[in-house]
Amino acid sequence: MTKWYAEGLKFKCTGCGKCCTGSPGYVWVNEEEIATMSQALGITVEVFYRRYIRRVGQRLSLTEKGPNYDCVFLEDGKTCRLYQARPKQCRTFPFWSHTLASKETWEHAAQDCEGINHPEAKHYSQEEIDSILDT
Ligand code: SF4
Ligand code: SF4
Repeated sequence: MTKWYAEGLKFKCTGCGKCCTGSPGYVWVNEEEIATMSQALGITVEVFYRRYIRRVGQRLSLTEKGPNYDCVFLEDGKTCRLYQARPKQCRTFPFWSHTLASKETWEHAAQDCEGINHPEAKHYSQEEIDSILDT
């Protein structure tokens, strides 16, 4: 079946930081990602759990801070302190299955992310998008 984004999509992260703050949410992480982030910070996994992780049912999420619900690793409202070691959820945005469910869900996401459909954005082919989706 032909996908609605068969012609590809445009996206370029401007680094505005909006997707890392603004409302309560979850940045889901797994043990492997926690180990990578702990290493990047030079702390043990145990300390990382204590400082930065909350349990939500069976799942693990990064914590938030401040009145704007900033991700715990957001600095100056824009910069990810762990950018190189950020988890998959952050690396793959906005190419998430529910964002790509339809043109409408993609356009809805574009209302909150100025990088989606950005005029100077990189064009991602369907193959590139699907490979990011599957990572
Ligand atoms: S909202 Fe979009 S453009 Fe802004 S930091 Fe997040 S991904 Fe990048
Ligand atoms: S880990 Fe970094 S990229 Fe991911 S939500 Fe937190 S600040 Fe944003």
